[in-house]
Amino acid sequence: MLLRIEDHDRERSRPEYDAALLEDLAWLGFAADAGPVRQSDADAIEAYTAALQALREDGLAYGCDCTRSTLAEGRWSGPGCPGGCRERELRGPVVRVALGGGSEAWTDVQVGPSSGPVAVGGDLPIRDRRGNWTYGFCVVVDDLRQGVELVVRGEDLAGATPAQLRLARILGRPAPPAFLHHPLIRRPDGRKLSKSAGDTGVRELRGGGATPDDVIAAALAALQPAQPPAR
Ligand SMILES: [Zn+2]
Repeated sequence: MLLRIEDHDRERSRPEYDAALLEDLAWLGFAADAGPVRQSDADAIEAYTAALQALREDGLAYGCDCTRSTLAEGRWSGPGCPGGCRERELRGPVVRVALGGGSEAWTDVQVGPSSGPVAVGGDLPIRDRRGNWTYGFCVVVDDLRQGVELVVRGEDLAGATPAQLRLARILGRPAPPAFLHHPLIRRPDGRKLSKSAGDTGVRELRGGGATPDDVIAAALAALQPAQPPAR
């Protein structure tokens, strides 16, 4: 198990979040076999830059000046972008990669046979308007170079999988990693937990006197698949 800190968004990442995360994991008794590695590490940046260069050379990566509102206005769906930027040789901070359309299928370790469209709201952004590398790009490059064979993550990211499968293949990965998308612990109204909404995190449970075993048992109980009704 590799501990990778996904701090590709330089504005939202803070050393204190990083430290708190490592401390909570240690408290829970989590011991990684390797890492922590970070997406802000020099070798990571070098790998993203090289992958972008390769995509540019293949004519797949392009600068895009579509704004979020342009995208929303036209309710853009499928590959490309509303401004037809791939043909315009722009040099903006936003870079997208043309992965094509269609869909990709995989056998999810938790969910079973799964599939979805590669391009939902346009081509995959690989750098955002502030020049940050994007999650959907970094994880594919990292999984490839770090030999990750099993990706375990929340079901909220299942929709990102088809584009990531396609990108991995374009970047030369012969066989994709296996994916396991697990359910999330949600609020009673079905929304995701969030710090800003005042939801409890490991830190608060710990402050309230919970032991690591209590936290792990509560998480396991909450994540059990729904039981079939008793006869
Ligand atoms: Zn565009």
